[in-house]
Amino acid sequence: MRFTHETLPQRVVFAPDDAVRAIRAETERLGAERVMVVVTASSSALAAALTGGLPVVHVHDEVVRHVPVEVAERAREAAAKCRADVLLSIGGGSATGLAKAVALTTGLPVVAVPTTYAGSEATNVWGLTRGAAKTTGVDPGVLPRAVVYDASLLRTLPVELSVASGLNALAHAVDAMWGPYADPIDLALAEEAIRGLRRGLPAVKADPAGPAGHERTLYGAYLAAVAFASAGSGPHHKICHVLGGMFDLPHASTHAVVLPHVLALQAPHFPEAERRIASALTAPTATGGLAALYTRLDAPTALRDCGMPEEGIAGAVGPVLAALPTNAPALTRDSLTALLRAAWAGEPPR
Ligand code: NAD
Repeated sequence: MRFTHETLPQRVVFAPDDAVRAIRAETERLGAERVMVVVTASSSALAAALTGGLPVVHVHDEVVRHVPVEVAERAREAAAKCRADVLLSIGGGSATGLAKAVALTTGLPVVAVPTTYAGSEATNVWGLTRGAAKTTGVDPGVLPRAVVYDASLLRTLPVELSVASGLNALAHAVDAMWGPYADPIDLALAEEAIRGLRRGLPAVKADPAGPAGHERTLYGAYLAAVAFASAGSGPHHKICHVLGGMFDLPHASTHAVVLPHVLALQAPHFPEAERRIASALTAPTATGGLAALYTRLDAPTALRDCGMPEEGIAGAVGPVLAALPTNAPALTRDSLTALLRAAWAGEPPR
């Protein structure tokens, strides 16, 4: 074994039914005196309930998916105006992403309280969208200093969003298996992540308001994001990133739809990944295990249902090919076109 693995510095607090205390403790550790809350407007009541007693100086609720640059700029201005010393994000990946965009230019520390399985809270990756082009980058300053996971906050997530978001997390784990910097630690984390998601998501599906499934799924989603942050983006993320930016597609369901297609092309070329994914899914093969999980979860299967226009397929092939990492041996112009056609129409992977 010859590899270098960097573990990102972050406190992670699993605090079931205890987010209020944990948030207070984590912001106090950072010496917060002026907290700016970043929250999706629909979750502002939740934010109020979680932040009573904190020195909140501003609640910023202009959260837009994929973080348009002008939205980031307004949030940065708000942070400067209220002289925030800590950013507290409460919400899904879009709220976390906006807090990261503010941290990128201000250096302010972030405490993240996720309410989906997006996993952005565990990565040092930021994303910004200008027009139809999404840019991402890596910066140690955007990694939240602390994450507070409270499974009870996910009880309100509609079950189809839980499924799509959980499969977005699964995509982090799977794509980490062949990411450009994947190392044995990433593979071990990703395998355990898949195990957690395989157990957690069916439990969420069966009992969306119960805490047990959400807790297990959060555990898997966190591990998946840690593995992904270390291994880097594989072909799955490059494809979804281009499609999401070009057609403003919903992030989680786009990942959910594309994942089985990428797995089918990649798995034969990465035998250790195939073995680990199959084992974590308790199935004879990785693709078979994923298909069975998708059936159980009634997962989304068609990009046309995500809002992608059919005529967009041809135009997407070039930008995706240009973005692909080198570790995608089976992704050629022809196979990618076929993949996009099948994913658009909701056909099974080849
Ligand atoms: P999101 O944050 O946009 O949330 C999706 C929807 O769910 C929103 O309407 C939101 O209001 C609602 N919602 C969130 N939590 C809820 C809850 N508990 N109850 C009810 N409704 C709730 O979407 P997402 O999938 O969480 O995140 C996607 C974004 O995160 C994308 O922009 C993506 O690029 C980014 N992301 C970034 C990274 C990274 O490492 N930088 C990783 C993953 C995702």
